[in-house]
Amino acid sequence: MDILKIREEFPVLRREIAGKPMIYLDNGATSQTPLRVIDEIDRIYTHTKANVHRGVHTLSQEMTDLQERSREKIRKYINAASIEEVIFTRGTTEGINLVASSFGRRFREGDEVILTVMEHHANIVPWQLLRERTGIVLRVVDINEKGELDLEQYRSLFNDRTVMASFCHVSNVLGTVNPVKEMTAYAHSRGVPVLIDGAQASPHLPIDVEDIDCDFYVFSSHKMYGPTGIGVLYGKKKWLLEMPPYQGGGEMIAKVTFAHTTFAELPFKFEAGTPDFVGIAAFSKALEFIEEVGISEIEKHERELLEYTQEKMIHIPGLKIYGAAPGKSAVISFLVGKSHPYDVGLLLDKQGVEVRTGHHCAMPLMDRLDIPGTVRATFAVYNTFDEADGFIKALERAAMILE
Ligand code: PMP
Repeated sequence: MDILKIREEFPVLRREIAGKPMIYLDNGATSQTPLRVIDEIDRIYTHTKANVHRGVHTLSQEMTDLQERSREKIRKYINAASIEEVIFTRGTTEGINLVASSFGRRFREGDEVILTVMEHHANIVPWQLLRERTGIVLRVVDINEKGELDLEQYRSLFNDRTVMASFCHVSNVLGTVNPVKEMTAYAHSRGVPVLIDGAQASPHLPIDVEDIDCDFYVFSSHKMYGPTGIGVLYGKKKWLLEMPPYQGGGEMIAKVTFAHTTFAELPFKFEAGTPDFVGIAAFSKALEFIEEVGISEIEKHERELLEYTQEKMIHIPGLKIYGAAPGKSAVISFLVGKSHPYDVGLLLDKQGVEVRTGHHCAMPLMDRLDIPGTVRATFAVYNTFDEADGFIKALERAAMILE
């Protein structure tokens, strides 16, 4: 893999921050965008923009084609059985809200939904909103000291009232890669459907929804080198057929009268209003980029970077890394002595290093770890070992200043 060649596709990586070459390590929040995606957006706005599924005219048909080809590309990428199972959303958050609102209609007071303590707020709050409406009960799986889920407890939480299990594939704080296939198999053995939050997995690991056999899988394009504002909800057709629409409006109807409305076929039943068809079309270029490099190569490179960086970090006095699950993904959450994460983040920024600080939208996990937040460095395919060295050097300086 020629990283320098890959980096050429990402103009933003040439930026300087505070007079130093930028080292972008906030990929968990959003990854940067390769030229082919930017060019595709530019090309569509310059040549092809027209609303989808609405016109007989050439432009509209071209645009519809681009959107639907992207849907097929995504279907193939995640190995879904049919394009009817690939629904475009605004992102992971909207995908989970859609399932909680629509699938959640079948839940009754006292029914139980299993979550885990490492969830992002996106996989907590929608279920709490549903709890307010229906009186469901949320059950939460704990972690061990390495940041792995307590699978024994997970299994023990299932009972006759369990109606759903919803958990992340990869933790955005700890980097833990959860055994989602095994967890799904167990839930199914108890007759319980599963939603997987794949926001932090889809940029780093091969995703095969048929193999995992999950009922729902959600992810966001902007973390996968794609445009902002679009995401995907994969859902098993048998559920999607039964589920009521999430929102009403154009595109999602078959026939509307003031007395009655019938809904469009899948997947359009869940896509009310004009979708971000430009973003959707350009997302296929991001997938093309990932396929060209190879997701397994990406995974391998990021893992090597992670191990290299962590190995060097642990020598910094007072440094503590949160998350030590074997095979963890390219996420390093850490604290330096008693220093506040913001102070560390600011001192790193002054040296050109862009990292995330705070609770990472995982406040319950921060409470569980008994810390206010962490500093978080996350890698992408374009990060280099030189950058890892630069990050370590900057961190050593920051640690020295804050001592
Ligand atoms: N789940 C996880 C694990 C995440 O890391 C994120 C993004 N930080 C989300 C959900 C939400 O993704 P989005 O903001 O793109 O909807």
